[in-house]
Parts: sequence; C-alpha cells; structure tokens
Amino acid sequence: MDPIIVVGAGQAGVALAAKLRALGYDGPLLLIGQEPVLPYQRPPLSKKYILGELALDRLLIRPPGWYEEQKVECRLSTRVAHLDPAAKTVSLDDGTDLRYSKLALATGASPLVLPAPIGGKLEGVLRIRSLADADRLAPLLQPGKKLLVIGGGYIGLEAAAVARMKGLEVTLIEKAERILQRVAAPLTSDYFRALHGWHGVSIREAVTLERLEGTEGRLTGARLADGTRIEADLAIVGIGVLPDKGLAIRADLDVDDGIIVDGQCRTSDPDIFAAGDCTSFPWRGERIRLESVGNAIEQAEHAAACMLGETKDYDPVPWFWSDQYDVKLQIAGFHRGYTDTVLRPGKREQSQSVWYYRGEALVAVDAMNDALAYGIGKKVLEARRSIPKAAAADPAVELKTWLTAS
Ligand SMILES: Cc1cc2nc3c(=O)[nH]c(=O)nc-3n(C[C@H](O)[C@H](O)[C@H](O)COP(=O)(O)OP(=O)(O)OC[C@H]3O[C@@H](n4cnc5c(N)ncnc54)[C@H](O)[C@@H]3O)c2cc1C
Repeated sequence: MDPIIVVGAGQAGVALAAKLRALGYDGPLLLIGQEPVLPYQRPPLSKKYILGELALDRLLIRPPGWYEEQKVECRLSTRVAHLDPAAKTVSLDDGTDLRYSKLALATGASPLVLPAPIGGKLEGVLRIRSLADADRLAPLLQPGKKLLVIGGGYIGLEAAAVARMKGLEVTLIEKAERILQRVAAPLTSDYFRALHGWHGVSIREAVTLERLEGTEGRLTGARLADGTRIEADLAIVGIGVLPDKGLAIRADLDVDDGIIVDGQCRTSDPDIFAAGDCTSFPWRGERIRLESVGNAIEQAEHAAACMLGETKDYDPVPWFWSDQYDVKLQIAGFHRGYTDTVLRPGKREQSQSVWYYRGEALVAVDAMNDALAYGIGKKVLEARRSIPKAAAADPAVELKTWLTAS
C-alpha cells in the first residue's frame, strides 16, 4: 500500500498527520520536511524564544517520541524537489522517487527578501522565519546596538519589542502610510504606534528605503528616499511572505496567491490536498489566504478529514494573536471589506478592543489585553450573530448579553 505523504513538516503538516491518525487512518504515513529539526512552533521565535525565555524543547509541536508512537515516519533535512501527479510520485532532492496514495502539500511560506542591489545581502541584515534565523539573530541582540526594523507588520513590531526589551536602540520604517495597514484598522495601528513610542521605538511611516549601506560587506545604515540616513548595526527585514507554491506550479496544479484548494482542501488534482500558509481557499464568497497558526491547524485537520471522505466545506472563524511587551493582541474574524470600526475601552490599563463592521454585521475584533472582548467577539462571530455598534462601544454594556440575545 502506498503511503499518504505530507510535504512540509510545520504546523499544518503535523496537524494533518495527527488528525489522520486520530480519525483512524492506520496505513503508512510519511511526513517530509526540509528543515533539520523536528517540527516546531514559529510564533515564539519572535517572542519568548528569542528573549531566551523558552527552551528549544518547548518549541516542538510534538515530543520526539510521538512520531514513533503514532507511526508517522518523519524524514527531516529532506526537500521534495518534484511532484508528478500523473505517476503519483514525489522526487526527493537526493534523487529518490516515492509513490503516494494521497498527497498533502503543507509547504508554508517564505519571507520576501530585499534584493542585493538594495543591500539585502549585507552581513547584519536578517529575517525571522525559521529556528535557524532566530538562532542567528538572538546573540546579536546586544544592549546599545542600533537596530533597523524594515516593515511594520506583526513580525516587525514583535522584533522591535524584543529588541527594546534587550536594550537596543530601535528604528522601525514602514513604507505604507501606517504600521499594520494591511492587517488592521487605523485604531489598532494607533494603539501599537503609541505603545512602541512609549517604549522608545522610533517609528517612521510613509517612508521608502532607498538602500542599505555597508562597509566591507557589513551593514552600517540605511538611506531613505527623502535623503535621511539611519545608522544601524543590524537590520531585521519583515516585509511579508510569499506562499511556497513552486512544487504545485511545476506540477501544473492551479495556483493564484497560493495553491488553489476547494472547500475540502483539495487542489486541482483530486488526490492532492493542501493546507496552511501555502493555500488560497474559498471563504464566504471570496478567496483568501491566511498566515496564522489557527488556520494552519484547523485547515490541516479539515484536509485530513476530507482525505478520508469528509465532504463538508472548511468554514473557519479566523483567529490570530501577537505579543508585544506586556500587551497581548487577540484577533477574531477577518477584517477584509469592513466599512466601520468602533472602539471599546477596556477595564484594565492598556486594554481596549476594536470592533469591525461591514454595514451592521460584525466581521472581526482586535482585542488588546482584553481576553473577554476577544472571547465574546469570537463566539458571536461563530454563531454568525452581531452586536450593535452602540453596545460594542459602550463599556457599561455587558457584552455577554449579546451571546444569547435574539
Ligand atoms: C516569527 C513568526 C512569528 C509568528 N507569530 C504568529 C503568531 O503570533 N500568531 C499566529 O497565529 N501566527 C504566527 N506566525 C505565523 C505561523 O507561524 C504560520 O502561519 C504557521 O507556521 C503556518 O504553518 P504552515 O504549516 O502552513 O507553514 P510552516 O510552519 O512554515 O511549515 C512549512 C514547512 O514546510 C517546509 N517545506 C517547504 N517546502 C518544502 C519542500 N519542498 N520539501 C520539504 N519541506 C518543505 C518548510 O521548510 C517548513 O518547515 C508567525 C510566524 C513567524 C515566522
């Protein structure tokens, strides 16, 4: 019997393998990953791990013994170079061909890089996607050093926060008009701009990086398009990711912004499924791609069920979190297409929530140090209900009454 093969031993790959076993699949199961370490969680890489507050064994998604116990053959340091849907084989980078019965692509995403002419290859210019990246960066975060963060998305902001906590001088530049522009409303951007300002990060929005400058191949600073120069010993580039869809493209599977899957996580080949950061999937009348642990796990579990015959469509309420200093941001829902936001002050210091509406319908909530607002917002979204804007904005109104209100 040919195995089910899962390509990509990350958050989605492991969740998919685990769910296949949990649902009773007892045939051969092979998980192939190109990194040299057992599958690990990425979020702590830009948070507790890099601060030295979380050991490597706590990063692992499953303990080392789990793979043998569950009869999941995990091949590390192994890249799948090719995929042949007609022959139902994958080719490994060592030249081996393996046959599969069904295949799952969980290849994730890779960070965008700055091109060499802009200085992207200078020593001291780093990124945070993998454990190897974090291990390279951690010892360089020394008090007094000057760090330039390029990109004001969540990873850039988290990197800025850990660097400040380690005593570096931090400047963050963002080419859009405001930080978090792609992923959040102005109210949330305002909150995080103020938070970082309070912690001493210099944030410069609506600026364009002309080039990074260096001496003898080592970064010394950056030149902006307006002529300003920023001195820097280190730069962290957090300008977004691209889904890893190369295998799918070369195998002639349908792709757009990601590997195109249907509601059952099936690609344009009926025996090939996909899940996680690499997929573009249908969701409530549109096609979206998410970069989050929540989606990687839930979509992978759905894909596993569909590989075994489930026919329901994947219909998640997306969720996400970010930790910066002592603030936990929790997001429920998906803000795309919102028309309005309302701000709800929280009960604690630094606590507030931003409620996103499309017309009168609640579509998402960003909760900063406000787990109650997040929890209720998520439940309301899961129940496909809403909360009137005036009630959401009024801290005197108990939100939980809207969970049961008709
Ligand atoms: C620093 C950082 C912080 C983050 N923080 C948060 C957070 O706070 N909250 C949140 O929800 N999300 C966060 N994320 C995002 C989250 O980690 C990802 O959405 C999640 O890991 C996606 O899971 P995945 O399995 O799709 O991809 P990945 O976890 O990236 O796994 C894909 C794996 O496939 C491997 N692979 C790719 N191609 C091949 C091939 N051809 N052959 C073999 N192996 C291959 C890759 O090397 C990788 O190991 C963060 C990400 C990073 C990098």
